[in-house]
Amino acid sequence: MANILISPSKYVQGAGELKKLGAYAEKYGKKALILITASGYKRCGGTVEAGFKDSSAQIVFDYFNGECSKNEINRLTAIVEKENCDMVIGIGGGKILDTAKAVAYYKSLPVLICPTIASTDAPCSALSVIYTDDGVFEEYLFLPANPNMVLMDTDIIAKSPVRLTVSGMGDALATYFEARACQASSATTCAGGQITSAAIALAKLCFDTLMEEGVKAKLALETGALTPAVEKVIEANTLLSGIGFESGGLAGAHAIHNGFTVLEECHHMYHGEKVAFGTITQLVLENIPAEELEDIIDWCIELGLPVTLKELGITEVTDEKLMQVAEAACAENDTLHNMPFPVTPDSVCAAIKAADAYGRYFLGE
Ligand SMILES: [Zn+2]
Repeated sequence: MANILISPSKYVQGAGELKKLGAYAEKYGKKALILITASGYKRCGGTVEAGFKDSSAQIVFDYFNGECSKNEINRLTAIVEKENCDMVIGIGGGKILDTAKAVAYYKSLPVLICPTIASTDAPCSALSVIYTDDGVFEEYLFLPANPNMVLMDTDIIAKSPVRLTVSGMGDALATYFEARACQASSATTCAGGQITSAAIALAKLCFDTLMEEGVKAKLALETGALTPAVEKVIEANTLLSGIGFESGGLAGAHAIHNGFTVLEECHHMYHGEKVAFGTITQLVLENIPAEELEDIIDWCIELGLPVTLKELGITEVTDEKLMQVAEAACAENDTLHNMPFPVTPDSVCAAIKAADAYGRYFLGE
């Protein structure tokens, strides 16, 4: 099988870059449908409009309905047709960005992605997650191409809630370990091939950046400061982890995350928070050296990422609940089977229990 790497065609990151969206966009088309929420428009609509004043491209704004659903995608493709738009721009969080990608795909148009948070590694990917109008997961829409451009205005992201950026670090924490597992098992990645040396190098850089800059970035963000550490973490969360997961592959951490979604008690936790605990569980399954495990758990504790089941929202831990999680994680079509050794619900259940015990130990509970 071939080694394959995919990525967005252009990645732009810097303070105040959203002001220049008009100048970037005019290279892709003449009229853009901009998908945004009403509150997002209040926060940055003026900036975007001002930036398009000197641009040859025109814009039409439309408010997002809240779900990346088939109905919403159809509603927006109709607007694209009516308004004669020849590009789609999404400004906001994950669901808006996924919707923009899907609308652009169905109309064969370029798509520009402008995340206002750095909470996951999804913006750079060639993937949209489709939900029903009520917010229930429906399907993955695998796209033939990654976004034409991803633009991260770090001024805006630095003003977003710190917990979201920390959660993005939890998502990015998994990237290197999952890519390493996929490399060891010669698994097929989300890019449809085997891992390249480039992808594993980016995944490793992602991990090293998080360890070096993560705590500094969190402390800076808590005072509202946009520092070089914050810039590096935003890149790690979005670009390094984005390419790293897609072209490096998913394995234990995300499958265990998916397992935890079956427990109602964990629903208030963000994706990256559950992925962080899933990562520790994967590392227990791999039985990595004690010192390495301690460094990673300590890092999670310093950032405020959950290291125990209690912190994940499970107040009453029972074997039955943990088996439910473990069985869901081992589902036939999930990525736990990309681990380079056999994994069973029993071994996952044991790893979750041990991960929780280590977390409590290092918390001093
Ligand atoms: Zn993720």
